[in-house]
Amino acid sequence: MKRSDFIKAAVTGAIGITMMDLKTFGNQLLNEKSTDRMPALFIGHGSPMNAIQHNKFTEALANAGKEIPRPKAILVVSAHWQTKGTFVSVAEKPETIYDFGGFPDELFRVKYPASGSPAFAAEAKNAVTLTIVQEDRYWGLDHGAWTILKHLYPQADIPVFEFSLDYTKPPEYHYKLAKELNVLRSKGVLIIGSGNIVHNLGMLNWRDPSAKFDWGVEFDTKVTNGLLTKNHGDLIHYEKMGRAAQLSVPTNEHYLPMLYAAALQQNNESLNFIYEGIEMGSISMRCFRVG
Ligand code: ZN
Repeated sequence: MKRSDFIKAAVTGAIGITMMDLKTFGNQLLNEKSTDRMPALFIGHGSPMNAIQHNKFTEALANAGKEIPRPKAILVVSAHWQTKGTFVSVAEKPETIYDFGGFPDELFRVKYPASGSPAFAAEAKNAVTLTIVQEDRYWGLDHGAWTILKHLYPQADIPVFEFSLDYTKPPEYHYKLAKELNVLRSKGVLIIGSGNIVHNLGMLNWRDPSAKFDWGVEFDTKVTNGLLTKNHGDLIHYEKMGRAAQLSVPTNEHYLPMLYAAALQQNNESLNFIYEGIEMGSISMRCFRVG
């Protein structure tokens, strides 16, 4: 049917179209558009040992990987790549980096052999106007990336690249930078912030893995509320949350990746917690999905 014939038929009622049909059709288009945009994740990565363990946390990651439409590439903003200036990794074959010590040999034998994605890295670089993003040819996949990807995408068959955290910049800079990266989601890129909302290694309770410090629970709850009410100003200026914030975020490299995922939430998108829990008193394993 030609377009003019369709309009004529619609006007005369010959094809039985109604305003309700048109509305439904419009809604379908909107929904299609929003499902075209990849979700974004924040993963509380915790101990590197999770890479070789199977527990409720790793199960939650495996399930998330199955539920999310297959990405064309994955961009990880990891707590474990801190730089002066903002960098994007452009290695064709990023190496698995063992950026920790004192763990069993088995952990040092794990490889995550995903390829890099210089093409999407270039797109990410071009999407940013806030600063000049520099290319790093040597950075591989630090444990903030591979220990979680091992469960999200065990086949390692999706290209991965990373964005560094500029440690000289305030939280607001990271929040704005994340917003500029949002365009990548419509191109099939899954953006993952990898850190921990509460992360105080000096206060770890080694004797009781299920221990919870009151201040950790308090800060984790406040951040959760900020996410649910979209009060991102509170999340950016987290230090105003007082003592609980000081103890939960003694240094903010594990907190900032959460801000990236929060900043990516669009007005019409949901935010769902896919895992939560406090481990060893001072680590929040809370994870969430946007979109
Ligand atoms: Zn970490």
